Amino acid sequence: MAERPPRQADWLSVREALDRILAAASPLGAEMIPVADAAGRTLAEDVRSPVDHPPWDNSAMDGYAVRAADVRGASRSAPVVLEVIESVHAGAFPERSIGPGQAIRVMTGAPTPEGADSVVRIEDTEAQPGTPERIAILDDRDAGRNIRRRAEDLRAGAVVLKAGRVLRPGEIGVLAAVGRPEVAVARRPRIGILSTGDELAGPDAFEHVRAGRRIADSNSYALAAAVTTAGGVPVRLGIARDDEASLRAHIEAAAGLDVLITTAGVSVGEHDLVRDVLERLGLELDFWRVRMRPGSPFSFGRLGRTLVFGLPGNPVSALVTFEVLVRPALRRIAGRRDVHSRTIRVRVAEPIESKAGLVHFLRVRLEPDGAAGLAARLTGAQGSGIMSSMAAADALLVVPETVERLAEGEEAVAIPLLAADAGQEAFGLPG
Ligand code: AMP
Ligand code: MG
Repeated sequence: MAERPPRQADWLSVREALDRILAAASPLGAEMIPVADAAGRTLAEDVRSPVDHPPWDNSAMDGYAVRAADVRGASRSAPVVLEVIESVHAGAFPERSIGPGQAIRVMTGAPTPEGADSVVRIEDTEAQPGTPERIAILDDRDAGRNIRRRAEDLRAGAVVLKAGRVLRPGEIGVLAAVGRPEVAVARRPRIGILSTGDELAGPDAFEHVRAGRRIADSNSYALAAAVTTAGGVPVRLGIARDDEASLRAHIEAAAGLDVLITTAGVSVGEHDLVRDVLERLGLELDFWRVRMRPGSPFSFGRLGRTLVFGLPGNPVSALVTFEVLVRPALRRIAGRRDVHSRTIRVRVAEPIESKAGLVHFLRVRLEPDGAAGLAARLTGAQGSGIMSSMAAADALLVVPETVERLAEGEEAVAIPLLAADAGQEAFGLPG
């Protein structure tokens, strides 16, 4: 008897699917690399500072280090005149401390002298003629201000960066500030990408596409790019034909990889050759079919120690399932602490209809909306084969399972499509 196709009610929700995937994904080991090469990698150690930064109290301004008690009450009509006993530039150290009625000229970053508790900005001062050198203070707004305290930024012995965060320019600056030449980062997952289908041609055989007999394999390129932005190393496994021998040979080439991503061969009604061959090779299927559109014919399992994601063949379904279900898993494998995608709140710029029972992910462009907000407008036809509306999208608008209609101006959640995937706050995904 033929297997009964699973009914939609038996499919997993997006959240259940993601939970099961994340439960199966675990971080890889670490490697040491030069800090200069570490942008975009995930930190795999807690980093402590061996030094205080700044190392001394220093001036936040070009001006005069003074005692607040001396300058309080100073104004243009009643200036306070102080004796200037020294001048210190950044890189030099003051030789004297200041006493009542005295000031030391300091540049931004220069250590402030003992006795000073304020730096009066240069604009609020006026040099006085004659010797000894004297300065008039014309305003008291800087009394008690403009001194950056030793260790106010980084304290010796304290953890300054925690494992699991993506190294962006700010984090790289901190690593350099604490003197690290090298840093432990999570190893990059190696991710096999396999296109399947008799109708496909690679770029080397584009003449068949031009002749109208084949379509170009775009999925493996789009997915390799997605893998790269997620911090993985794509391993191209080529195009398997829709026959057992070809599929078997291509899947076996994925042995030893951390992850295998296949596309196509999973449409309803079609003989599900990709999954059949994977199961014959030992795939432990975790689940297949998710209540989402596009992308419902998605499967997940494990082949030996390789996690296997079976993505649908339609180009938009492949990329949307990657964003929603694969990218968070790659973050976990790549050692990230925050694995969920950032979501943002938007207003929909036009009414939107959606079928209940499936989470819809709609391709939208983001536009400014009033002073602070963003409005989301559909990029065009939403068919799962329409690559141009995916390429034009800034974000995926999320329409939860229970919502059948969004009125113009209504609030919704969207997942930004980023050029690169670096340390984000996770606010959670509804529905
Ligand atoms: P399938 O899941 O095999 O039924 O494929 C669904 C749709 O996706 C079909 O129109 C395929 O031609 C298309 N498709 C499958 N694989 C690719 C690919 N690698 N690149 C572009 N389109 C594809
Ligand atoms: Mg096919």
